[in-house]
Amino acid sequence: MSTCASCRADVPAGASFCPSCGAQHGQGASTTDLKALLDRVPIANRVVGVVTLLVFISMFLPWYSATVYGLSVSIDGYHR
Ligand SMILES: [Zn+2]
Repeated sequence: MSTCASCRADVPAGASFCPSCGAQHGQGASTTDLKALLDRVPIANRVVGVVTLLVFISMFLPWYSATVYGLSVSIDGYHR
């Protein structure tokens, strides 16, 4: 919660505009929040992207699934 610079009304954190007078609000704070958000997102996006890519490849390349299956089988044999 912060205060509007124009009318000094309470403005919810993360709000782009003052709900009381409609003035643009907290540009610096919003930019900081967005920056913090963007710092986290790319890592998760890359993981999801890689997983999606692997699933996509395995769906269109049957031999890839066979290789993965063979690998898991040999791992089972190793543990035995
Ligand atoms: Zn205001």
